[in-house]
Amino acid sequence: MIPAAFEYHRPKDMDGVLAVLKEHGDDARVLAGGHSLIPMMKLRMADVPHLIDLQEVDGLGGISVADGRVRIGAMTTQADIIGSAELASAAPILREAALQIADPQVRYMGTVGGNIANGDPGNDMPGLMQCLDATFTLVGPDGTREVEARDFYEAAYMTDREDDEVLTAVSFAIPQGGYAYQKQKRKIGDYATAAAAVQITRAGDNCAAASIAMTNLSDTPIWSEAAAEALIGTSVDEAAVDQAVAAMLGDIDPAQDNRGPVEFKRHAAAVILRRAIARAWSRA
Ligand SMILES: Cc1cc2nc3c(=O)[nH]c(=O)nc-3n(C[C@H](O)[C@H](O)[C@H](O)COP(=O)(O)OP(=O)(O)OC[C@H]3O[C@@H](n4cnc5c(N)ncnc54)[C@H](O)[C@@H]3O)c2cc1C
Repeated sequence: MIPAAFEYHRPKDMDGVLAVLKEHGDDARVLAGGHSLIPMMKLRMADVPHLIDLQEVDGLGGISVADGRVRIGAMTTQADIIGSAELASAAPILREAALQIADPQVRYMGTVGGNIANGDPGNDMPGLMQCLDATFTLVGPDGTREVEARDFYEAAYMTDREDDEVLTAVSFAIPQGGYAYQKQKRKIGDYATAAAAVQITRAGDNCAAASIAMTNLSDTPIWSEAAAEALIGTSVDEAAVDQAVAAMLGDIDPAQDNRGPVEFKRHAAAVILRRAIARAWSRA
């Protein structure tokens, strides 16, 4: 389908972006890679009279690793993530996750900022960012503020971001230990039926710290503190993994849709989480 008519804005700097957002309020939205927003407009599920393209705005790109932290500009694409040797060394879970998003064409256009700001429960980056305990930087008319990824998601397509704010970057401490991003999907290019992001650190034979989040099993990503706690202090044996899976199953709330009924999704969540924990532990 063809989207409803819209006016296209292409400001050169953030002041220009904020000025259009201020002028048009709810009628304006920023455009990043366009691979979530444009399909929604074509399906007439979104009507956006004013599109503000971020392509030419300075300072929104780039990946940096310094002082123990990783910073990724909002306009960094999934392909940029996959291609970054620095990131592959500092936080390899990002590359592993990005390689499982859609297909190469989408990954060349889709941005980290768009994936995070979109609020679609099917997007892979939000759960990953919660696993990494990332911080999101937002800029708006009142200046810059930071929000924890674990506090950002409120409901499907509803986040802590105000309509007149733009996500500029994400940052997180360089993750330690083993990692895994495990995703089950119906076919290549599909969104997750269930996906799990796991980071685990080991002290001797036991798990010293863990962080676990899952995607597309509730209307927001689910970071489960109880699932991680079930592993900490154990040798990540079968009983501990059972406890972690049970804790996660207590935190998710999947809905029936064309990926399957609720019981199937709970089953898929358990299988994927077990695999993710096993792989992360084997790498720890
Ligand atoms: C066939 C197909 C398969 C896909 N499969 C997957 C998948 O498996 N996993 C997955 O995670 N994604 C998937 N996607 C979505 C893809 O990754 C999108 O590119 C991504 O979700 C959104 O990024 P974008 O840069 O395209 O954002 P856009 O589409 O440009 O924007 C999305 C939304 O975020 C807002 N936004 C964008 N950037 C900012 C910003 N910096 N600050 C504030 N608001 C902003 C926009 O206003 C809009 O509301 C798929 C897409 C397609 C077309």
